[in-house]
Amino acid sequence: MRTINHWINGQPVATSAERTGAVYDPATGQQTAQVAYATGEDVDAAVRAAQAAFPAWRDTSVVKRARVMFRFLDLLQRNRDELARIIASEHGKVVPDAAGEIQRGMEVVEVATGIPQLLKGDFSENVSTEVDCYSIRQPIGVAAGITPFNFPIMVPMWMHPIAIACGNAFVLKPSERDPSASLRVAELYAEAGLPDGIFNVVHGDKVAVDAILDHPDIASVSFVGSTPIARYIYERGTSSGKRVQALGGAKNHAIVMPDADMDSAADALVSAAYGSTGQRCMAISTAVAVGGKAGDALIDKVLERAGRLRTGPGLDPSSDMGPLVTGAARDKVSGLIETGVNEGAKLVLDGRDVRVDGHDEGFYVGPTLFDEVRPHMEIYKQEIFGPVLIVLRVADIDEAIGMINDNPYGNGTAIFTANGAAARKFQNEVQVGMIGVNIPIPVPMAFYSFGGWKDSLFGDLHVHGPEGVAFYTRGKVVTTRWPVPRDSAVELGFPTSR
Ligand code: NAD
Repeated sequence: MRTINHWINGQPVATSAERTGAVYDPATGQQTAQVAYATGEDVDAAVRAAQAAFPAWRDTSVVKRARVMFRFLDLLQRNRDELARIIASEHGKVVPDAAGEIQRGMEVVEVATGIPQLLKGDFSENVSTEVDCYSIRQPIGVAAGITPFNFPIMVPMWMHPIAIACGNAFVLKPSERDPSASLRVAELYAEAGLPDGIFNVVHGDKVAVDAILDHPDIASVSFVGSTPIARYIYERGTSSGKRVQALGGAKNHAIVMPDADMDSAADALVSAAYGSTGQRCMAISTAVAVGGKAGDALIDKVLERAGRLRTGPGLDPSSDMGPLVTGAARDKVSGLIETGVNEGAKLVLDGRDVRVDGHDEGFYVGPTLFDEVRPHMEIYKQEIFGPVLIVLRVADIDEAIGMINDNPYGNGTAIFTANGAAARKFQNEVQVGMIGVNIPIPVPMAFYSFGGWKDSLFGDLHVHGPEGVAFYTRGKVVTTRWPVPRDSAVELGFPTSR
């Protein structure tokens, strides 16, 4: 059985095989590899390698650091197909979707190539007589990332290209469910000329995560995953003095106004609810139809489109939607569908019956659609993280916005409407971090920052874009005087620019 090892100081590192986890091909349900689970000593070895490499990298000219990112970008481009197949065979998503996440990850690397511009400080001449003042941003040291299974390339790339371009060293703990992509990324960094020790990968579970959170020589932790773990990471990481950004789960609502183009709205909802089998933090899982007519039209159009989707292996070009990531994920989603039925929601399309020829053991659930859902139901309250779209009906836009603002999550949301005033009211009043107007999955471009509100983000700074640069650097302000010789004088008053 193939073993997936850590990557420390520029090479794969096998550890004592006492603790390992199984990695599956979700399309077949078969185990394909085992992954090493890091001990505290393994994490410490990665941090020591990162610490040792940091001083020289920090002092490497910003232009040379950018050039490594240009070469890394080129290698990602050239190896994109292979990376997409690695993702598909461990995560389960269809290959074009995997290629899409690589593209979005590469866009962060593109931003990182512009690091000389991004790190420029301000300079003010003559803030007082013969006194100048300027600001600089310096790297923080060893930064760590802990990431979820659902975007094995893109989510880590929200973090490490920016951290590394800023002059830091990085330790990544990717999801133990689809760990191979991160190792390939480590090889590509090495090929791009990144010095050994600047990018390290340790695999594992809570033991590895806790070792990262408690390690005195890790300066920051970036986390993306479910809300309970995000809260835990934030509390434990900050209490040990680290800078922490912890992005959590989501329940993303789309409001469909009666004046919306219903065909476009249905296309968008089907793409956003069922793409990646609903395992996206920006998936639209909840449609809020304003007015009875809008709800009826929407259900008909979504049902017609969802019924045509083909569920099958991610590597099969004829599949629209792959399996869920694990058997446990499939069982959780199927269980929540049953809960919805028992709670009295109307099951319009049931994905539990889906059969994929020759793949009886695969972790499949087909597109599922619920109507007549109410806010007190578990299928509304819980993040299902599967191909399940629920539809609620409300009387007007105020009720729809109130529902979104009462929800504990605040990651993404969208409105479908032809009315500019409604769209403006929505973007102004809704308490959510990322907003789409007639756009179903409003993931910001890499030169903006990504992050939610409320229980979807613990911490202050969002990832990538300008806030990513702020997160991975510390500011300094320098005030200088190069006095021309004159009579000396002592001045005890507080310094001001009189
Ligand atoms: P998860 O929370 O189970 O795991 C995320 C990471 O935390 C993994 O590396 C995992 O090994 C680690 N982890 C798991 N349990 C832990 C524990 N008890 N103690 C310490 N570490 C632990 O999340 P997942 O199932 O891999 O990913 C899906 C979740 O991620 C969903 O909730 C989704 O909404 C969320 N997500 C959010 C965003 C966002 O931008 N807000 C993006 C992607 C995914």
